[in-house]
Amino acid sequence: MSPITVAKFGGTSVADFQAMSLSAQVVENNPSTRLVIISACSGVTNLLVELANGVDAARQQALLSQLQQIHYSILDDLQQGDSVKSDIDALLDDVATLAKTAAMASSVQTTDALVACGELLSTHIFAQLLRERGNNAARFDIRDVMRTDDQFGRAQPQLEAIRELVQSQLAPLCQQQMIVSQGFIGRDAQGNTTTLGRGGSDYSAALLAEAIDAGTLEIWTDVPGIYTTDPRIAPKAGPIAEISFSEASEMANFGAKILHPSTLIPAIRQQIPVFVGSSKAPEQGGTWVRKSADSSPLFRALALRNNQTMVTLHSLNMFHAYGFLAEVFKILAKHRISVDLITTSEVSVALTLDKTDTSGGAPQLPAAALEELSELCRVEVEQNLSLVALIGNQMSHTKGASKAVFETLEDHNIRMICYGASTHNLCFMVSADEAKEVIQKLHEALFE
Ligand code: ADP
Ligand code: ASP
Ligand code: MG
Repeated sequence: MSPITVAKFGGTSVADFQAMSLSAQVVENNPSTRLVIISACSGVTNLLVELANGVDAARQQALLSQLQQIHYSILDDLQQGDSVKSDIDALLDDVATLAKTAAMASSVQTTDALVACGELLSTHIFAQLLRERGNNAARFDIRDVMRTDDQFGRAQPQLEAIRELVQSQLAPLCQQQMIVSQGFIGRDAQGNTTTLGRGGSDYSAALLAEAIDAGTLEIWTDVPGIYTTDPRIAPKAGPIAEISFSEASEMANFGAKILHPSTLIPAIRQQIPVFVGSSKAPEQGGTWVRKSADSSPLFRALALRNNQTMVTLHSLNMFHAYGFLAEVFKILAKHRISVDLITTSEVSVALTLDKTDTSGGAPQLPAAALEELSELCRVEVEQNLSLVALIGNQMSHTKGASKAVFETLEDHNIRMICYGASTHNLCFMVSADEAKEVIQKLHEALFE
């Protein structure tokens, strides 16, 4: 059999009956699509996260009825919604029980069990819709194959186990039927439900495409492709027809919400071309992400990542000494803190903390880590910062590439700059309230 296509649909593509119908059409248009990975219906994960954070009884009730209403309204539009209603009701009961547990004592483990219900719900409905449209489609519980570690809220996939489980349990099913399953969620070796972090469905789809040896991965969302920057921030941003893996993974890593940061890693490992398009307007085409692109412009795109935490460490002991950074990183590693950007001077180091988990918000420096670092040096922690990244090609090898950037931003205060380690990006920190304006000005100067 020729390699299959894995198609992923995000929250807005399965928001309601109409959106789901357009997505079903997209699936039907490509006979090689055998595995369909979907997110929770738009807005559902946010409601579940609120419940998971623990709310009072009245708010709990309001959120539960909102959740019921979102799913019931799609069931009403199905011809045989009743055939999956008992599954939906059972899951809504689980949500109610878990919400009570969370209200008494919220925990990362309960959060994952609760937020996973969004995808468990939406897949029942979408599989039923595909069947009603005449497709031989079945729903599959992805937790049976998506094995992760137990870092709830940002679980790490266990690639070997996933491949083995996918090949033995999922691949044979995909030969017989179109399979609809959940993005975002997995299970640890103890059988607990885990999640891959917010926006993780893209990553799930890529991991599954890799494990099933897919020929193509399609990411269907609400914009017709990857744009030069988020079109919600710069309305003149335009779609990119073709982009290389390295450029697109820099974009994803630096916050372009269109792709979860890790999405392209499995695709790159297995050289699987990725298509990004709009389920609402598939005829508009989209972006192909491949090993190499025909063009490699100096400036390709701008990305923005909000909710940054910057930690600055000052120590006179650093002056001409060795071993200081090793000490710092030993403490960070002990507390499982992942560092994103780093710049150093003779007596200080500034670093930013890596992405957050399912609970959202800015990453926190754990109190115990702060205490240990404070024994070593003076520590300053700042939030309300955003990271702006300019992605391109050969930037640090091209005269004047950075000049255009700094000239455009002469009225802004730039907090921290990283440039040179990769020829694909120049990134810097600005205050959160200036971030959008900075993106708009740079987009106008470099792309319009
Ligand atoms: P989904 O629910 O389908 O996963 P997301 O909301 O996670 O969709 O991602 C799509 C959104 O990403 C777009 O609506 C757009 O606002 C945002 N976005 C950010 N950067 C870009 C970019 N460079 N190109 C296109 N969209 C972007
Ligand atoms: N539903 C999850 C979220 O909202 C995962 C995803 O959409 O990719 O984060
Ligand atoms: Mg997304």
